[in-house]
Amino acid sequence: MIHFVGAGPGAEDLITVKGANLLRETDVIIYAGSLVNPGLLKYGKAGCEVYNSAEMTLEEVIDVMKDAESKGLDTVRLHTGDASLYGAIREQMDLLDELGIEYEDVPGVSSFSGAAAALNAEYTLPGVSQSVVITRMAGRTPVPEKEGIAEFAKHGSTMVIFLSTGLLEEVSKELMEGGYDADSPAALVYKATWPDEKVVHCTVGTLAEAARDNNITKTALILVGGFLGSSYDRSKLYDPTFTTEFREASK
Ligand code: SAH
Repeated sequence: MIHFVGAGPGAEDLITVKGANLLRETDVIIYAGSLVNPGLLKYGKAGCEVYNSAEMTLEEVIDVMKDAESKGLDTVRLHTGDASLYGAIREQMDLLDELGIEYEDVPGVSSFSGAAAALNAEYTLPGVSQSVVITRMAGRTPVPEKEGIAEFAKHGSTMVIFLSTGLLEEVSKELMEGGYDADSPAALVYKATWPDEKVVHCTVGTLAEAARDNNITKTALILVGGFLGSSYDRSKLYDPTFTTEFREASK
């Protein structure tokens, strides 16, 4: 059996209990060495085979899984954050389906949650935005035209931009094309939840400069939106004048 496991954003104790238990019991670990904290490998039992998928092709990864399966061994495929975001799991699952190999998907804490925690931020502030756009700039992987940053920026929603730290001038330009002012609040979170995490508050117009000043070139998220500002409305849920299923409004 193959267990796809979300490793969490970085901190060794931000993997789920289920994920850590699977790591303890498994015979083979294939981990995404470019971003998964190698400290997580210490959960593995003695004699467990470890492969770094950063140095492997899809076919090589599948070959390791196939080989383990033929010996009746268990494999954990450890992906950074939660594997549903930019995790390239679908192509693995489709090949496993063809081979008749069983798998399960164990969710993880995505770096977008890690970044919110690093900022002590709430992405969905009442009166500001109730939606989060998770996206990226087109790089070597193209992004559908309708999903350009400028298009999403028109909504004024909270934006979490992955995989784009090398393209910050372009990100700023597109955000402003979509309607943000140069002085709208933005932030960069580098290696959220890792010991060397950096949180940098800046503006839409100063993203590139902020990254340069803080030597941030990769492994960062770009956060944009009014949720980084100071004004918002109180929640209805905890409003004394609001009745809910669990609580009567006070008179
Ligand atoms: N599945 C992962 C994302 C993988 S794509 C998740 O759920 O988080 C890789 C990109 O994620 C990086 O280029 C960076 O933009 C972001 N990323 C991953 N870990 C991060 C972290 N700890 N802090 C900030 N950004 C991170």
